[in-house]
Parts: sequence; C-alpha cells; structure tokens
Amino acid sequence: MPPSGKTVQRLQCKDCQRWVEVSAGEQEFFAKKRFPQTPVRCEPCRRARKQARRERPTAERVSPSDTRTRFDTSCTTCGAVAKIPFRPAPGRSVLCSDCYLARQQQGSSYGEAA
Ligand SMILES: [Zn+2]
Ligand SMILES: [Zn+2]
Repeated sequence: MPPSGKTVQRLQCKDCQRWVEVSAGEQEFFAKKRFPQTPVRCEPCRRARKQARRERPTAERVSPSDTRTRFDTSCTTCGAVAKIPFRPAPGRSVLCSDCYLARQQQGSSYGEAA
C-alpha cells in the first residue's frame, strides 16, 4: 500500500497494448504538466512518438515575399476580383488596379459621378 493512500493505476498502452503502472505521483505530474488525462502510453511508445515528431520534416516552406496577406474582394466599379493588401472595410469602395489607374488618369472629379 502506498503511504499516500492513492492507488497505482494500471493502464493499457494505447500503442502496444502493454500494461503500464502509473504511480499516484506520476498521475499528478502528468495532470499538472499538460496532459488532461492520465497517460495511456508506455514510456518506450512515448519516446518513439517524440522521436517521430522530431524527425518529421517541417511544413512546406513558403518564400517570405509571397506570404504577404492579400484579401480578395471585388472591384466596386467593374466587379473584377481585386487583391488588396488590407482587409476590405464594409461599405468602402474598392478598386481593382485597372480602375484605380483609370481614376488616377481621369482626375479626382470622377469620384463624385457614381
Ligand atoms: Zn506502448
Ligand atoms: Zn475595376
């Protein structure tokens, strides 16, 4: 009988079906650490999993220049898809690059027409 009065739990390893003894101290340790429940893997299986995670190649690398966030929206003037570097605000007019250039060329007086 353990002096603490808590019992040693016997759990079956999820991976290899081996029975593992989990002491009360271990149960508390795992509960405190990050495991929401008592561990259900034996030590060798846990180690193997950790190793596998380390060896797994890192996620696909995306070149930093291409990761700039672009928001897809539609041009208020012609309806074409416009990619803008900021989140489109509701109710705010968004122009595709063509319309933007056209407006620039026509001058600011064009803005009141629509
Ligand atoms: Zn195991
Ligand atoms: Zn447009």
